[in-house]
Amino acid sequence: MKFWKLGIIALCLTCLTACGKAQEPVLELEQSITKELPQTQQEEALQEEMPAAEFTFLVGSQPFDGGCLEIGGKHFAEKESLEKIPELNGKSSITLYRGGKEYVELGELCRTSDCEVLMDEERGVYILPREQHWQIPEGYEVPVLMYHGVSDDLWGMTELFVRPSVMEAQIQYLLDNGYTPIWFEDLPNVDKIEKPVILTYDDGYMDNYLELFPILQKYNVKATIFVVTGTIDYNPRSLTTEQIREMSDSGLVSIQSHTVSHGYLNAQTPEEQKYELTKSKVDLAAITGKDPCVICYPSGRFNDTTLELAKQYYAMGINMDGLLYVTGEDPYMVDRFYIRRQDSVGTIASYIQ
Ligand SMILES: [Zn+2]
Repeated sequence: MKFWKLGIIALCLTCLTACGKAQEPVLELEQSITKELPQTQQEEALQEEMPAAEFTFLVGSQPFDGGCLEIGGKHFAEKESLEKIPELNGKSSITLYRGGKEYVELGELCRTSDCEVLMDEERGVYILPREQHWQIPEGYEVPVLMYHGVSDDLWGMTELFVRPSVMEAQIQYLLDNGYTPIWFEDLPNVDKIEKPVILTYDDGYMDNYLELFPILQKYNVKATIFVVTGTIDYNPRSLTTEQIREMSDSGLVSIQSHTVSHGYLNAQTPEEQKYELTKSKVDLAAITGKDPCVICYPSGRFNDTTLELAKQYYAMGINMDGLLYVTGEDPYMVDRFYIRRQDSVGTIASYIQ
């Protein structure tokens, strides 16, 4: 066959195909899909290649039960898992595909949802607060001991700094006498714990890492540190982000809130108090990946607004009244014994027996 004849046949076939497609709506749809697909696949391939980082998204005190991706400074969460959270009923127009799954941009979803989400988009921290009320068996005596610094470097009020050697002797005394140092988070199981006692350290001083933490590791003992988050990485006497993270990851130290600034909460407006309680929560979650559930009122000062906010964002509130805490009492006014530098092991014994 001559080449020009072949050319005409090819042209006719092309016209036929083109005309046929134009007349058939089904074919038209097919055509548009095949036209779109490569683009989407290309986009997906690009999205698959973009490096993703982890971030913190907590629902109540639990980590989000689905995939999280931080890509290009935006935070995405798996759509299917998000749909199981009734509070997040808003919309997000920004989506992303990865590994065959659809992800939704979390910031926009949170902003358009009819609920409160604590967000720190800069650090990638999202907390959907849910009221936490622990079921704690009643009538159990749980002495809570309040310390501050553990150091012989007395740069502040002397009584605030317990000697490291005395701290170790006190812990040895507790263990030798059958006490079990626990966290507040263990209280729902208090009925199964032998002679529970809670060791707390206020303010978040660096000596808690340098002096106290090695003792806790040596005896495998649990403690709680109440951190003033405004001082982290800022005050040279205070704990750093890395130190807090390491202690939290060790499984021995529970990192909890002592507000952002350590101001007297009872002297602040409701807005200021809300900032102190929620910002510190986000600050600590950004470091530990865990939602702080206990608030320690600075200098033991609080008012009705503080208690209302504490109930909204925390499971327990701690003061410093120098009394024995018995489970079943108001969980937002937990008493503690103040242990000073001059206190002997005998003093501790007299408090807790
Ligand atoms: Zn304090």
